[in-house]
Amino acid sequence: MRRRDFLLGALTLPERSILVHEHILVNFTGANYDPGEAYRAALPKVRELLRYGCRRLQECTPNFIGRDPALLRRLSDAAGLEIWTNTGIYGAAGHKYVPGYASNESAEQLARRWVAEFRSEIKPRFIKTGVNSAPLDAIDTKLVEAASITAKETGMTIASHTSGGGPAAIQQLEILSRLNCPLDKFVWVHAQNEKDHRFHEHVAQAGAWVEFDGINEKTAAWHLECVSWMRQKGRLDRTLVSQDSGWFRPGEPGGGDYRGYTYIYTDFLPKLSDVVQRALVSSNPVEAFG
Ligand SMILES: [Zn+2]
Repeated sequence: MRRRDFLLGALTLPERSILVHEHILVNFTGANYDPGEAYRAALPKVRELLRYGCRRLQECTPNFIGRDPALLRRLSDAAGLEIWTNTGIYGAAGHKYVPGYASNESAEQLARRWVAEFRSEIKPRFIKTGVNSAPLDAIDTKLVEAASITAKETGMTIASHTSGGGPAAIQQLEILSRLNCPLDKFVWVHAQNEKDHRFHEHVAQAGAWVEFDGINEKTAAWHLECVSWMRQKGRLDRTLVSQDSGWFRPGEPGGGDYRGYTYIYTDFLPKLSDVVQRALVSSNPVEAFG
């Protein structure tokens, strides 16, 4: 028996787990790429997940930053693992990836586009948006309003890249409340960047989801602390974890340094009890996203 198989045999990992925030391809530069090359780079990384009981990967690359539903569908079919894509517009990074029409259209008009995508071949299963620091400007506010309208109409959950930490998360909850969108339809993405745990507790208390993503060997100690704090406060039922790992990088030789998705299974989850593991990667993701 190879050492690796022996180690895997010793692990007890949750069955049918879900990674709520990973990437297969991100194209920050808009470079051309060969989808076949991206497919060949991603397939072994995706396939590796099957050995750890993963059944779904939620691909969080937004439209206009490289979202490629056809590539994801091809990988999903080949690997036998669900891969979800998303709809919405990402306003973070100073609106660099916001298309021109979003400045002129109303929140309602943007929501029409996303609801139409929901019913189209693209089949997004969640809404991905992103905002800059608080106070949110007019564009960021409109994107979150459009996401709220879309969530109410389709039932999809909003995952929002929130650069500005707690204050920006709370401002988004206020937008959802104003539009009567249930707060359990909101996921605070990159909550690990907020160092004041009181914000984590507050957002969970309000009923929204707190996602500690970006787990890797360098960050894991902080993420474990966040999880432990949420557990102590009785808010494990609103906590999500993921790695924000991957991905094929168009324009870089060979697609760049594609990190895999297994660290959470080999190193992170085994440090937690079975009950906590199941909540974080099995039951909570289903409750948050369906
Ligand atoms: Zn991400």
